[in-house]
Amino acid sequence: MKEYRGFPVSPGIARGPAFVFQGDDGFVAPSFALAEEDIEGEWSRLLVAVEKAKSDVSSLRSRALEEVGRDQANIFDAHLLMLDDPDFFDNIEARLRSSLRNIERVIVEIEGEFVDRLSNVPDPELRARVTDIRDVSRRILGHLLNTERRTLADLDEDVIVVARDLLPSDMMTMNRPRVRGIVTEAGGRTSHVAILARAFEIPAVLGIGESLEDLEDGTALVVDGSAGLVVADPDEQTLLRAEAARLRGEANARVLACLRDLPAETRDGLRVLVKSNIEVPDEADSVLPHGADGIGLFRSEFLFFRPGHIPGEEEQYQAYRRVLEALPGHPVTIRTLDIGGDKILPEFVAAGEKNPLLGWRAIRFCLTRTEIFMSQLRAILRASVHGDARIMFPMISTVEELDQALGLLEEARRECRSRGQDVSESLPIGIMIEVPSAALTSDLLASKCDFFSIGTNDLTQYTLAVDRGNERVAALHNPLHPSVLRLIDLTIRNGRAAGIPVGLCGEMAGDPASALLLLGMGLGEFSMSSPSVPAVKQLIRSVTTVEARAVADEVLGLGSAKAIGARLDGLLAGLLSERGGACSADQGPRPD
Ligand code: PEP
Ligand code: MG
Repeated sequence: MKEYRGFPVSPGIARGPAFVFQGDDGFVAPSFALAEEDIEGEWSRLLVAVEKAKSDVSSLRSRALEEVGRDQANIFDAHLLMLDDPDFFDNIEARLRSSLRNIERVIVEIEGEFVDRLSNVPDPELRARVTDIRDVSRRILGHLLNTERRTLADLDEDVIVVARDLLPSDMMTMNRPRVRGIVTEAGGRTSHVAILARAFEIPAVLGIGESLEDLEDGTALVVDGSAGLVVADPDEQTLLRAEAARLRGEANARVLACLRDLPAETRDGLRVLVKSNIEVPDEADSVLPHGADGIGLFRSEFLFFRPGHIPGEEEQYQAYRRVLEALPGHPVTIRTLDIGGDKILPEFVAAGEKNPLLGWRAIRFCLTRTEIFMSQLRAILRASVHGDARIMFPMISTVEELDQALGLLEEARRECRSRGQDVSESLPIGIMIEVPSAALTSDLLASKCDFFSIGTNDLTQYTLAVDRGNERVAALHNPLHPSVLRLIDLTIRNGRAAGIPVGLCGEMAGDPASALLLLGMGLGEFSMSSPSVPAVKQLIRSVTTVEARAVADEVLGLGSAKAIGARLDGLLAGLLSERGGACSADQGPRPD
């Protein structure tokens, strides 16, 4: 038995065998010279391998259709087309004959040439083919070398995924119903793997400080995503404890489920909004069942993280419309594309930026790649007539950026009208406050938009100069640091002074102890992953505004994140044990 400790990023208990995911790093194909008479034999080996690859992909496609959906199946359709592409094979055959090198070597060379050529073409659709080419050639090589190539999309049994790190695209393409848990060496609480694990309700422990190299495929694991603990080869007692924790978690969720139809209202009658963050359109279906008041953040960039596929205007329109129609009468805030930084999309963003987190990211990217931005804006505008839509720009750091974004939005509106397409006349436009410059000038920005949403994941990263995805400094990434709290406080005050609503959609909003403080600071809207909604509602219904304000006054005077966190935890525990019955509809006697 061996224990590993990491960050508890997505709650729940999972048990299962390890699936050690290597990605493509470090693959080296054998290379050797052939004699003329070996060529036919090499060619036949290739044909056998291609047939096997086709049969893999066909069964993956059928399973994806049954278990995950059309989007996933489309990826495999593209792979089948490539496996039947005569140009690809003509190229391989010609090179095999001219170079007299083994077939594996030839495939790797041709793959490299295709990838180099496509990586530099201006058309993102074409650049997106890089991932397909890599995937297909690696699958053929796997059969040639008799090394089974298992990707996360291939999973056909329940497993715990163990990896050094995962990309957003790994998370989007994995065969989700088979992933019981996730364990990675890298990452922290607000990294995108963490956000997606919570969205998909997969227990996860990230940022294990030590190497996971000694874990082998099939090792029995227990993952406690609430405690940040992973146990390899667990003994009987550990298994019993895990089962008890799982049952406790289920019982707690059943208790909180009764909050679903009750409002997020304090004991003295202040109604606030508790909304959900979503990453993929299907998540919209679980927003109302968790008792949320709408969607405070739809991270639209995840529509773009399907390898080999860039969604155009029509496809985006359908996705936004689907989300809006899943929540009739409820507000849905769609955030425009936030790629770059740690959300690298190789088809769009040139690799090799020295400081991607400070670089060509989010609104900065969109204001230069206006054709991509405009097609997204048109898609959102067109979808806006199907519900209560709002639009939000990420990573605004100057007033000029907001002015430019608003100008392009107007242009997109005119384009839709000239095409005869309906768009909502009253679409509120907000911005994320997630860069210190935006918080510090929130008085100026407030006069130009309809709402603020504070993104504490990035605001903390940029205020404290701490990479939110780097496990080595993850302990420093704490939104309760007095500097971050002062920026939040200033933003709330400036928003209120300008009469615009201020929400917060960083991970902090879903933590009840932090929510107690934020409520006391005057925050009116909390947006979080759907499973966190009931516990935050419980907190809000357990407290009065006067009490919450007293909490804020007290802890804002403390000098460190550690002291603030400890005090908030203590105050929350006291409140919940005293008030307990969060599910009573009338919340008990109201204070005077
Ligand atoms: C944030 O930065 O707090 C936020 C909500 O945006 P994201 O996590 O997608 O960067
Ligand atoms: Mg952000």
